[in-house]
Amino acid sequence: MSDLAFETRAARAGVARPPLLQVASVPPLHPSVTWLLPTQQALEAALSEGNAFVYARNANPTVALFEEAVGDLEGGEAVAFASGQAAMHAALLSLDLRPGDHVAIARDCYGMTRTLLLELSASAGVRPLTVTASEPEQVAAALQRREQVRALVVEAIANPLVRVADLPALAAIAHRHGAALVVDATLATPLLVRPLEYGADLVVHSATKFLVGHGDVVAGVVCGRGERLAPVRRLAQVVGGVLGPFEAWLALRGLRTLALRLERQCQNAALLARWLAEQPTIARVHYPGLPDHPDYALARRLFGGERFGAVVSFELARAGRAEVERFLDRLQLCLPATTLGDLFSELSYPAIASHRTLTVQERQAAGISEALVRLSVGIEAVADVTADLAQALEGVHER
Ligand code: PLP
Repeated sequence: MSDLAFETRAARAGVARPPLLQVASVPPLHPSVTWLLPTQQALEAALSEGNAFVYARNANPTVALFEEAVGDLEGGEAVAFASGQAAMHAALLSLDLRPGDHVAIARDCYGMTRTLLLELSASAGVRPLTVTASEPEQVAAALQRREQVRALVVEAIANPLVRVADLPALAAIAHRHGAALVVDATLATPLLVRPLEYGADLVVHSATKFLVGHGDVVAGVVCGRGERLAPVRRLAQVVGGVLGPFEAWLALRGLRTLALRLERQCQNAALLARWLAEQPTIARVHYPGLPDHPDYALARRLFGGERFGAVVSFELARAGRAEVERFLDRLQLCLPATTLGDLFSELSYPAIASHRTLTVQERQAAGISEALVRLSVGIEAVADVTADLAQALEGVHER
């Protein structure tokens, strides 16, 4: 199917193709733990093969279809996991890290990714190294000063300031130092960018978010090519954080509308970003589709110039925690939720959610003010979303 357009391939995720006789167009759900083979010799052969359907932790047909579909969209192969965290854990473990190895991680990576790395540092003696992904020269200098840098972990679009990673530059820097580039592309999805094409070694998704997009599945994926992905597959089987078949079935269902959903979400986000920038109650808007965003040109180059993602962050004017909380409590349509990427608009307050483990000073150093709110834009009619935001903003300074 590789000659078909992205939208077509996504829409047909896991769907049967002709010529076929009396086969269901959408795949069945296979909850079975085990498969029965006709002879012990056949069982032996299947077990030696590794990925044959024998035991569900090793391989499952519904999960395999989801993996095939995501791999196809990313331009590689994929292994599915029970969550984005399990996927990142497997991606890092697959690098065969040894005590004393450095893992460079972007300052603005998801808080739990940083926590995961700290756990690895405590248990496996891995040394975390914080870098500023938006400044490739700084990353290069930091890597230059260290021995044994095994990996550089960045997000294609980071949260909540929606900074865009210069993937070709970062891949070149990582490889110059013998490090693997691991890209969390959760906010971008392969509709915007396929990091493997820019030199990334492994791509990780919280499929819980835009990939599946309906707020009803927790899932993760690691994508890569050939030998890079083989240890990830093995870790899925050995550590066992695999995706369940029902979740894989729902994930396939969600994936089929990825292009349609995200296209609309990106359009809505661009309209909302412009609307927010015009409001006197808003001090600042962060969106890579606005020309004043520091990564506007880079986003155009990497994402093709038409889409800039569906996350918009903004700072309320003359506001601190009390005003932001009042704003969020007044929302009637948009959901105050600690997730993103669903087909409905969701707002979250980084100071108490994604970045709660940082001190106020650390948040300030990272550019995350106490007045900052993150909006994950849905597929609703934009006028309804702006009306809700407007009425909530009106009451912010009332007591
Ligand atoms: N990566 C990013 C960018 C996220 O926002 C999240 C969750 O919020 C994760 C990874 C972890 O994913 P999951 O919640 O599916 O474990």
